[in-house]
Amino acid sequence: MLTIKSLNKTYSNGVQALQNVSLEVPNGLFGLLGPNGAGKSSLMRTIATLQEPDSGSIRFDQIDVIENKLALREQLGYLPQDFGVYPKVSAEELLNHFAILKGLSNKAERKEMVDGLLRQTNLWDARKRKLGTYSGGMRQRFGIAQALLGAPRLVIVDEPTAGLDPDERNRFLNLLAEIGEQVVVILSTHIVADVTDLCPRMAIIVQGEVLAQGEPQAAIDLLRNKVWRRRVSKAALPEYQKNFTVLSSRLVGGLPQINVHSESQPDEGFVQVEADLEDVYFLQIHSAQMTAKAANAASVV
Ligand code: ADP
Repeated sequence: MLTIKSLNKTYSNGVQALQNVSLEVPNGLFGLLGPNGAGKSSLMRTIATLQEPDSGSIRFDQIDVIENKLALREQLGYLPQDFGVYPKVSAEELLNHFAILKGLSNKAERKEMVDGLLRQTNLWDARKRKLGTYSGGMRQRFGIAQALLGAPRLVIVDEPTAGLDPDERNRFLNLLAEIGEQVVVILSTHIVADVTDLCPRMAIIVQGEVLAQGEPQAAIDLLRNKVWRRRVSKAALPEYQKNFTVLSSRLVGGLPQINVHSESQPDEGFVQVEADLEDVYFLQIHSAQMTAKAANAASVV
């Protein structure tokens, strides 16, 4: 279990990247969902002991992560957002090299682990190929293979599905879910479907603050009977956006179809629809924007 309490971080340029962040992360795949700039990478890097928070605490089982970085690193597998590979080296060679750096000095044991990981990530047949010839999805699976060296109990993957095609994305997420059966896996993403499909628990982070956490279905249940949908003309859309809490708008047959959050039917053109995690997510983003707007208005006055 990973327990984060009241974590704060303000960068030297004044950006408050983490504001009083508290999270409970049990075994399994945990989705950290938030838009770009929400603070996901800042949080991931802090948990991975790559940067210090200004205040707050992080515990992983018995380890005080901030006090005892080395102990955490021994348990950690990390796939950063900008994971680069040497293009001229084969997957097998580079993984073996990383394994040596990880301290796996026994050759037979190392080979067993490297081979096992290449099979687990479905790269066995391509193990002799140079990494420069890999597709985006294969590179990310290689990234997971290197993160799993040394059998970590905490695995952190930062925005791993960005840029993957749907097939590769699915394969990658299934791999993460499989790993999550034994260890804590934190997946940061701005893609709602990454979380809906596979994460038993999640948190939504916006502007450095955790606005919701728990089971996705519990968050969805809170919106039951409160999401309404209709198609509107393009010309009328701004008026709806002004008058209602428009969660999302997508073109259907050339016309905007909007989802609105409302306790009662907004007007007779709306029908009630079943809420989903996108509605939850967009409502949180909308609320955060409204709060920020109100704060700005107050500071101008
Ligand atoms: P995310 O991963 O959700 O996109 P980040 O943690 O990368 O969010 O960024 C959160 C905020 O902190 C953003 O406004 C970003 O510009 C800012 N930020 C991130 N890293 C730094 C840094 N090293 N110095 C200053 N500002 C930073």
